[in-house]
Amino acid sequence: MGFTIKPICKNCGYTTNAISVGGGRLNHNTQCGAPALNTETNEIEEINLYDYKKTEIDKKKILYFFYRNVIVEKTNQKYIPYYNSKMFIDDSEVGQHHWSNKNYKKSKNFCPKCKSFNLDFNDGGIHFD
Ligand SMILES: [Zn+2]
Repeated sequence: MGFTIKPICKNCGYTTNAISVGGGRLNHNTQCGAPALNTETNEIEEINLYDYKKTEIDKKKILYFFYRNVIVEKTNQKYIPYYNSKMFIDDSEVGQHHWSNKNYKKSKNFCPKCKSFNLDFNDGGIHFD
């Protein structure tokens, strides 16, 4: 079900360990791996999208004594996942890795080291289930 990708920059050579995308048969309800930029360390890391986005119920005061439950979505501000449109150049010629409803460009992704859009996500060669 899931697979791995390997980031490598064609401009500066930056690379990381292979990153797992998606989840396996046994853990896909709790684990959904994705490549993301850690904005504190300036490295590409694997995150779990289930930890990245959480919905919480917030009690909002709408009048002096009326409250309403509002569902708010909170994201972990430290990470920017690579499906975010500011993390790649949108070019329809470039192939994509798909997982669920998320797409990751195979090339023209943002490299955190040389700040150019020359990073490829190569097939990491491992498919797991
Ligand atoms: Zn680079």
